[in-house]
Amino acid sequence: MQSLSVNQQPLVPSDLTPSVIEVSVIVPIYNEVESIPHLVEAITSTLNQTGLSYELICVDDGSRDGSGELLKQQTLIHPHLRAIVLRRNYGQTPAMAAGFNHARGKVLITLDGDLQNDPADIPDLLAKLNEGYDLVSGWRKNRQDAALTRLLPSKIANWLIGRLTGVKLHDYGCSLKAYRAEVVADMNLYGELHRFLPALAYIEGARITEMPVRHHARRFGQSKYGLGRTFRVLMDLFTIFFMKKFLTRPMHVFGLFGLGSTILGVSIGLYLTFLKLGLGQSIGDRPLLILAVVLVLTGVQLFSFGLLAELLMRTYHESQNRPIYRVREIVGADTPAP
Ligand code: UDP
Ligand code: MG
Repeated sequence: MQSLSVNQQPLVPSDLTPSVIEVSVIVPIYNEVESIPHLVEAITSTLNQTGLSYELICVDDGSRDGSGELLKQQTLIHPHLRAIVLRRNYGQTPAMAAGFNHARGKVLITLDGDLQNDPADIPDLLAKLNEGYDLVSGWRKNRQDAALTRLLPSKIANWLIGRLTGVKLHDYGCSLKAYRAEVVADMNLYGELHRFLPALAYIEGARITEMPVRHHARRFGQSKYGLGRTFRVLMDLFTIFFMKKFLTRPMHVFGLFGLGSTILGVSIGLYLTFLKLGLGQSIGDRPLLILAVVLVLTGVQLFSFGLLAELLMRTYHESQNRPIYRVREIVGADTPAP
C-alpha cells in the first residue's frame, strides 16, 4: 500500500470543503440605498445572535440610486453578505429567483429591503419551521400601507387566491417567509409568481403554515408598485389556476364555455322561432336581442382565446429554460456559487 507523501494533497483540500450553511437570507433590492445600511445591520445582528451559520444575499435588481455599489462596499464590512448585481431591473420575482438560485442554506428566508419587514421576526419563523413545516408565511396583521389602494386589493386577492388554490392564507403578499430549500428548488418563477409559492408548494405536497409578523411603514424611498401589480397578480393567479388544474385537459374548460354559449345561442334561436312561428310575431325588429347574442358569443370567445394565448405564452416560458435574469457580478461571502 502506498503511503501518502508530503506532496500528495488529499483530493478535496479541507479549506475547499463546502461549509454547511444553515440559513440563507434573501433580499431583493431596487433603489433602497438609504435603507441598506440599517437593513444589513439589523439582519446580521439578529442572525449573529442565533448562533446559526448563515449568509445574507442581497440582490440588486438594476437600481439606479447606487444601491448596487453600496451593497458591494458593505460586503467589506459584513463577512456574511453577498451582493448579486443584476444587469438591469427585472422585477421582484426574478430578483428573488436569483437569490434562490445562489443560496446555499438549508433554510431560505425572504424579506423586503425597505425595512417594512422586521428581521427580528426571523428567529420566530425558524422556530415555527422547526415545528415540522416546509414553509412558514408571514402575516402582516397590522399592515402599515394605504387602505384603499393596497389593503383592499390585497384582501380581495388573498380571498381569491385562497378560493382558487385551496390554500387559505391571510397574506400571500407578505415577502417575509421561510422555506426549506428543497421546496423552492424546482420552482420555475416568473411574473409575480413568488407570492404564490405557498400554493405552488402545497400542490407539491409541502406542509404550509402562517404566523403573524411585524410590519412597519416605509422609512425611506417609495413603494415600487401601484394598482398595476394587482392586475398582474390576478393574471398570474388565473393562469396558474388553469395551468395546474386544466393544462392537461383544456377542453374541459373551453369545451364547457363552448357548450354553454351554444346552448345559449340555440335557446335564443328557439325562443325567436317560437315567437315567429308560434305567436306569429315579427322578430326582425329586435336589435337588442341580437346584440345580446353577439355580445355573449364574442365575449366568451374572446375570453377563451385570451386564456389560451396566456397559457401558450406561459407554457412557452416554462419550456424555454432561459434564465429570467442575468447577473452582472457577484461580490462577497466566498463568491463562487452555482
Ligand atoms: N423590488 C425589486 N425589484 C423591483 C421592485 C421592487 O427588487 O422591480 C424590491 C424592493 O426593493 C423591495 C421589495 O422588492 O425590497 C418590495 O418592493 P416594495 O417595497 O416597493 O413593495 P411594497 O412593500 O410596496 O409592496
Ligand atoms: Mg415595501
